Amino acid sequence: MLRIRRPARPRLECQVVSHEELSGNASEGRGFLAPLFEPLLSLVVPSRCAVCEAPRAGLGGGGVCRACWAALPLLDAGLACPHCALPTGGAPCASCRLHPPAVTRAAAFGLYGGGLRTLHHAFKFAGWDLLAAPLGVRLAALARSTAIASGADALVPVPSTRRRNRERGYDPAMLLADETGRLLSMPCRALLSRTRETPPQSALPAAERRGNVKGAFAASSRARGRVLVLVDDVVTTGATLFAAARALREAGARDVRALVLARTPEPA
Ligand SMILES: [Zn+2]
Ligand SMILES: [Zn+2]
Repeated sequence: MLRIRRPARPRLECQVVSHEELSGNASEGRGFLAPLFEPLLSLVVPSRCAVCEAPRAGLGGGGVCRACWAALPLLDAGLACPHCALPTGGAPCASCRLHPPAVTRAAAFGLYGGGLRTLHHAFKFAGWDLLAAPLGVRLAALARSTAIASGADALVPVPSTRRRNRERGYDPAMLLADETGRLLSMPCRALLSRTRETPPQSALPAAERRGNVKGAFAASSRARGRVLVLVDDVVTTGATLFAAARALREAGARDVRALVLARTPEPA
């Protein structure tokens, strides 16, 4: 797949996420001349959906066709574990009951699988960093509908390791947090850093993930007294998210919540 560089875009001013934006029907950045240029541009630069790879008509939709946006498996935050967003019907999951995490509230946009898995793969591993903009629209809508950022001071991306960011050329969680923060008029603060390179969590069995990220984050003293919302792309066991939250709490954060793109249905 081609690596696509994120185009320079004006800072978003939008305060309210409309239903059209949430459902992927918004005409993103289309002027009145767009209908004239789009067919021509499509001939020169064919556009394909990052999920189904079908040719996409027009330039709207942020790299994913409207049918694929509409088919994503969404999650109801009211029917999930409040700490890790695992679908449970609304009660804390067994793991969070056993080891109460430092994340007091969590909300996930969708279930990791189907089109969302493909979309996430394109965003994180195949250079589709331009997907951060439409995904940010959806995370901002989720934050509003769940009030998870209500009264918070800042969004804080869960950083990847330096080496992985260097390899892919961007930090997915940072882009997501930045886009979401613009729409929520909330600052995005890089208050966390990685203390060491760790093997990717996805390469490890669930039992080893907690140990892999234990002490892997350092938090800035600027976290002290703040209410913070962590932003990450995928939560599987919660080990990474909870290690990041713990670091913020140890640095004095008053409360730590989490906003994530996708939640795996069961711990791997
Ligand atoms: Zn598609
Ligand atoms: Zn849980």
